Amino acid sequence: MSAASRCEVAVVGGGLVGAALALGLHRRGIDVRMIDRDGVADSADDYDLRVYAISPASRRFLQTLGVWDAIVAERSSPYTHMQVWESVPESALHFDAADVRMPDLGAIVESRVIQRQLWAALPPAATLVQAVQDLAIDTAPDGRATLTLADGSRLSAALVIAADSARSPLRERRGIEVLRAPYAQTAIVCHVQTERPHRGTAYQRFLLEGPLALLPLADGRSSIVWSTEDAAALMALDDAKFRVALGAASQQVLGAVLETTRRVSFPLALQHAERYVEPRFALAGDAAHVVHPLAGQGVNLGFGDAEALVAILAEARAAGRDIGGLRVLQRYQRARRAAVQDMIAVTDGLYRAYRLQQPAWNWLRQQGMRLAGAVAPARQLLVRRACGIDS
Ligand SMILES: Cc1cc2nc3c(=O)[nH]c(=O)nc-3n(C[C@H](O)[C@H](O)[C@H](O)COP(=O)(O)OP(=O)(O)OC[C@H]3O[C@@H](n4cnc5c(N)ncnc54)[C@H](O)[C@@H]3O)c2cc1C
Repeated sequence: MSAASRCEVAVVGGGLVGAALALGLHRRGIDVRMIDRDGVADSADDYDLRVYAISPASRRFLQTLGVWDAIVAERSSPYTHMQVWESVPESALHFDAADVRMPDLGAIVESRVIQRQLWAALPPAATLVQAVQDLAIDTAPDGRATLTLADGSRLSAALVIAADSARSPLRERRGIEVLRAPYAQTAIVCHVQTERPHRGTAYQRFLLEGPLALLPLADGRSSIVWSTEDAAALMALDDAKFRVALGAASQQVLGAVLETTRRVSFPLALQHAERYVEPRFALAGDAAHVVHPLAGQGVNLGFGDAEALVAILAEARAAGRDIGGLRVLQRYQRARRAAVQDMIAVTDGLYRAYRLQQPAWNWLRQQGMRLAGAVAPARQLLVRRACGIDS
């Protein structure tokens, strides 16, 4: 068997989280390899159906990585206003960037635009398009973690980080247990043309069957994420009937729905790994945690993982410590588990709050909404948390 090639850190998965992490480590002078089985899509004029609400905190991280300007140059859509409501749009909570003295509340960006710019910023020698098939870990103090790739080659590293999706084959291989609770809702995603312009506003309506978000795109259309218990029936509708159903669910907040792209659907579940680290191995992004998309925070949490790992590993390396050692990795776990638990409490709590239909509870929830909207500090606090300013 030929000798394994060597690096300091191997990142498995070149999705948004893995690619940001690999670039961050590379920028700090760490010898890193990123391995992804699919590679990255070429540029295309068509809009990607996967778009994300990138928080100001994630944007700052992407700025420090030096890729934000290129992302904006390709395509992004900042939003300055958010409108959240339950029964009628007139009772909506309004959030404005001016409330927190920010130019905007975040930006809607296509997944593949971010992924492409992160990959483009990495030296070609640091990226490998290959499926990872196996991982062996030698836990001796000076041991290594060794990956076996689909072509039979091997790569050994002081640390392997798995950012290899919610299914995470490497997490499974390491036998790390996951708390998994499927939601009764499935998310339907598509882009729609509406009668009225969105004017840089992100809309979210909490329906009994699940939340519906309309996110503003740069070309004037909106991207919808409709998490609903009725997904199977809605997916089966023809376009004309789907447009009518969507218009009714959004209470025509942007007028009639005139056109829609193809629809895709994602089953939803809460997932949280029982631990993020063990000697020479760490989890990041969806491999570590998956939250309900109602707050649009999944990839933002993953960027938080990447930013924390880059800082902790760079500091440990500068101090001459073993970057694959458990003591260093536990600092990462402590920092991130608390932030993730907070976000799980918010998203899971909201999911459950809107499914409970009891008169007293409905009244309480509506009073809460009214109070949050009427009291400026409460509104500011909500916006600051949503933007990642206080996190
Ligand atoms: C409907 C919906 C809407 C959402 N909206 C938002 C939003 O508005 N804002 C937000 O922040 N988040 C949102 N999310 C969450 C977001 O999609 C995820 O959190 C994010 O994509 C996770 O990124 P990741 O890099 O961790 O994993 P992934 O994007 O899943 O990437 C994993 C990578 O690992 C690679 N891989 C897997 N196995 C192997 C292997 N064996 N060898 C080599 N490579 C491998 C894959 O090819 C892939 O590229 C939403 C999710 C859903 C379902």
